[in-house]
Amino acid sequence: MDMQSLGWKFLHKETFAHSDVLFLGDTANYVNIPHVIAMVGLPARGKTYIAKKLSRYLNWIGINTRVFNLGEYRRNVTQAYRNHDFFRTDNNAAMTIRTNCAKHALEDVVQWLEMGGGEVAVFDATNSTYERRRMIEEIVVKQKKFKLFFVESICDDPNLIEQNIIEVKVSSPDYTNMNTDEAMNDFRLRIEHYQEKYQPLHETEEKDFSYMKIYNTGEKIIIHKHEGHIQSRIVYFLMNIHITKRTIYLTRHGESEHNLKGLIGGDADLSVRGKLYAEALAEFIKEQNIEGLRVWTSWLKRTIQTVAEVKAPQERWKALNEIDAGICEEMTYEEIQKKHPDDFRARDQNKFSYRYPRGESYEDVVVRLEPVMMELERQGNVLVVSHQAVLRCVLAYFLDKPASELPYLKVPLHTVIKLTPVAYGFSSESTLFNEKIAPPINSSGNIPIISSTNVPDIAPSVSPLVTTTKLTLPASLSPEIRIPASNRPENISESSENGPK
Ligand code: ATP
Repeated sequence: MDMQSLGWKFLHKETFAHSDVLFLGDTANYVNIPHVIAMVGLPARGKTYIAKKLSRYLNWIGINTRVFNLGEYRRNVTQAYRNHDFFRTDNNAAMTIRTNCAKHALEDVVQWLEMGGGEVAVFDATNSTYERRRMIEEIVVKQKKFKLFFVESICDDPNLIEQNIIEVKVSSPDYTNMNTDEAMNDFRLRIEHYQEKYQPLHETEEKDFSYMKIYNTGEKIIIHKHEGHIQSRIVYFLMNIHITKRTIYLTRHGESEHNLKGLIGGDADLSVRGKLYAEALAEFIKEQNIEGLRVWTSWLKRTIQTVAEVKAPQERWKALNEIDAGICEEMTYEEIQKKHPDDFRARDQNKFSYRYPRGESYEDVVVRLEPVMMELERQGNVLVVSHQAVLRCVLAYFLDKPASELPYLKVPLHTVIKLTPVAYGFSSESTLFNEKIAPPINSSGNIPIISSTNVPDIAPSVSPLVTTTKLTLPASLSPEIRIPASNRPENISESSENGPK
């Protein structure tokens, strides 16, 4: 997302520190004012889940966002939590601590936004009374002239609430000294204390607020007075998310004929090894026996051929096509370095923003991928077969990686990355097929050793060749030979965990 073109950078550090010269007239007319998103709802209603997910999405589309969790502030300033008594409505001492923590957290929110730390701060707390929400309005809107949008999660499904407590609450730092049953009971009582004073967002009492109410994880949604681009995107995103357990599988296409020649881009067929991977992938997917699996590929032949034998409904997305290398399409990296040395260097300087002449940057790919990600959020089990640069963008979204790391994420050939939802994010697990199929080689039969900088995006198996090591293929791995039973996917070991931070 090119925020500059939206005038977003207008609010940067130095400018914003002098907000008196920034806003000329009624601030309500400015679109790109910093935002505070304040969560609302009883405990165990998914506020933190929503806050983190929203932050991940906004950061991914280029809107710098940070979550401020009130529970963490409370735990930092006081060890006073012994049990649910801390949250009793008649516990005045604890109430003073809680109110001070809220003020302290809000001060940090405001300071972070004022100093240009980011554009959106998510205030993750229960904010469950009119009084507390008026306090937020006073600081955020009346004093600081920022925009304020409330997101309330309402859930009256007892099973879901119990499940939430089991999944994320009993392991909270508040309960390190309690066993699971004690923690469960304590948390239920904590919810009861909040319930005594809980005032959901009110259409007439709080008619001037901008807000969104989400009932039972999206069964019903109410939107009230939302304003501007940022709030529209938040509403749209939160309308699409769900919490049903599912798995997303990501893989690049099998090795292509262009990969063998070290050419980037283009629309080549699979190589012999690529076809072996297609077979191994089909077998792997069959063995996983994934309910309701859907397969998404790009429009390019190499991804379509990779899933030719996968038995599941398939859809093609042009948005999943590889990054467009513009004038460098179908060149080797050596050619690019020779013919366009300035571009080759520029790309190394800022790989995320560098745009190939008449082509795309990673930043551009993120923008075009947004509809795909939104649809992925709505879906169940999906196998996405695409290309290295594109899958780096997809992976950064799920694993909450910043733009600076995105272009360097590892998405090896002949590997399936399995993404599974955990607490507030996704864990990833890779299954490597490469060694079972045979390592990728270039046309001269050499294994390429790739330098750690400027790792290629589009030519996965070859380039830039720094050193090469001669490979003599064992007979059992020669391309003409089918995968032996011992090398079939059921025998392939799984590799490392790489969960979100
Ligand atoms: P607390 O006020 O104690 O911090 P919380 O409201 O922030 O609680 P979370 O910690 O976010 O609650 O609870 C996470 C659980 O909520 C996850 O198991 C997630 O699946 C579930 N969840 C996510 N969205 C919703 C929703 N809209 N309604 C109910 N549960 C949800």
